[in-house]
Amino acid sequence: MNEFDQLTFDARLPEFEAGSVWLVGAGPGDPGLVTLHALNALKQADVVVYDALVAEKILGWANPDAIMEFVGKRGGRPSPKQPEINASLIAHAQAGKRVLRLKGGDPFVFGRGAEEALDLVAANVPFRVVPGITAGVGGLAYAGIPVTSKEVNQSVIFLTGHDQTGLSPARIDWESVARSAGMIVMYMAMRHMDEIAEKLIAGGRPKDDPVAVVANATTPAMRVLETTLACAAADIEADGIGAPAIVSVGRGNLLRDKLDWNK
Ligand code: SAH
Repeated sequence: MNEFDQLTFDARLPEFEAGSVWLVGAGPGDPGLVTLHALNALKQADVVVYDALVAEKILGWANPDAIMEFVGKRGGRPSPKQPEINASLIAHAQAGKRVLRLKGGDPFVFGRGAEEALDLVAANVPFRVVPGITAGVGGLAYAGIPVTSKEVNQSVIFLTGHDQTGLSPARIDWESVARSAGMIVMYMAMRHMDEIAEKLIAGGRPKDDPVAVVANATTPAMRVLETTLACAAADIEADGIGAPAIVSVGRGNLLRDKLDWNK
């Protein structure tokens, strides 16, 4: 038995059934954060349908005979629409392939994984979900920011800074967000940071509430910008720090002073 087969055996990793789809999280970037289930899926898949945020190194672990289908944005060209991706997953599965849908982070955290799974259910395609480490938890940990801690941040809220229309999400009740969570962890929030900060301050959040912007978290290109709610939008612009980034708001960010292990 080779090392990987031994591992598969020890961990009782499942067999990838032909004609099924696995929705798999690849984690936030660092290949070491890929799970054994994800690795097992890569070794067995016939087709890998992947997004822009999945590291090359991780893709390199796929079975060399697998068809690699990129469905993210590249060079300004728009990505395939979600219904096209879902249809492609279903078509490959119905053709008897083992289909691996590989996404950055966790497939069920702001990754359209739920929508894809619902379409698979509707088409009667068997599927499995392999959770991954989400950027809003693992990415912050790499910046020395715990999403919860006993003293400072006992609750955490995860939200997206823009919806499918590209606007800041109208359905979010910013006032209650401002009031209810010690730590606010935002995905895709860079573009609307001015509006978001304004709403949180209007909802009662202090202007000097600490903000951390963690870009390219867990990768060699990782950068962290520390600012405050009132200054966040201007500081982000002045700094030029770009997506993909997690923005966290709350006093938990201050723990980074002591916990930044990844200097
Ligand atoms: N399913 C993913 C999130 C997909 S939405 C997850 O669980 O992490 C895409 C957003 O995730 C990006 O706009 C950014 O806000 C965040 N993101 C993903 N990878 C990241 C990384 N390596 N560093 C910082 N933010 C990241």
